[in-house]
Amino acid sequence: MAEPRCAKCGAKTEEGFLLLQARHSIPRNPGLSSAVGTWVEGPVKYGFFGLVLRKRRRYRVTLRRCTRCGYVETWATDPVS
Ligand SMILES: [Zn+2]
Repeated sequence: MAEPRCAKCGAKTEEGFLLLQARHSIPRNPGLSSAVGTWVEGPVKYGFFGLVLRKRRRYRVTLRRCTRCGYVETWATDPVS
């Protein structure tokens, strides 16, 4: 598959992902307290134990960033079990 070009200016794009970093992350190793962005079916809903995620479809979010103008496009194609 050809590498996607920017939908705004047509330049090259580069692959990346959305990092969700905890407010109190570990300075020397922020990867331990961070997560990858996930698309979740339905509206945001909080229950007693936090966000309600049961029985909702989830997909890992991947991004492509334009190397010229910075425009970012988002895909959610990899199901999360
Ligand atoms: Zn662009």
